[in-house]
Amino acid sequence: MTECIFCKMVEGEIPAAKVYEDEHVLAFMDIMPTTKGHVLLIPKVHRENIYEFSEDEAAQLFSAAPKIARALKAEFEPAGMNLLNNTGAAASQSVYHFHLHFIPRYDRQTDGFGLHWETK
Ligand code: AMP
Repeated sequence: MTECIFCKMVEGEIPAAKVYEDEHVLAFMDIMPTTKGHVLLIPKVHRENIYEFSEDEAAQLFSAAPKIARALKAEFEPAGMNLLNNTGAAASQSVYHFHLHFIPRYDRQTDGFGLHWETK
């Protein structure tokens, strides 16, 4: 039995606020969002980090990325967006199942949480 929290979400053993799913990937809302609309995209197969991906797996994951980014742009109308991945403890990875963060960015007036986010 897996101890990986993201594998458990793929298997439906723990809840996920899903925003996109296909045969190969799953995207869901981050439980502690950095900004409104923060989403994580993961491969369904357990891969700890980018070093473990085959080319096909990378293509499957990144082919979903524009769909998710466009959906977030349409829904939340952010001023910009960060797509990022943390690989390894030194880079602040805390969940060891690869995930690509989609973090919408807002200007000070429209930040969903009322945070004083600076755009530069
Ligand atoms: P990282 O530090 O790059 O490994 O990011 C891990 C991310 O996973 C963080 O942004 C967490 O808030 C998020 N996270 C952890 N557990 C869950 C969960 N059960 N559902 C959704 N997001 C989660």
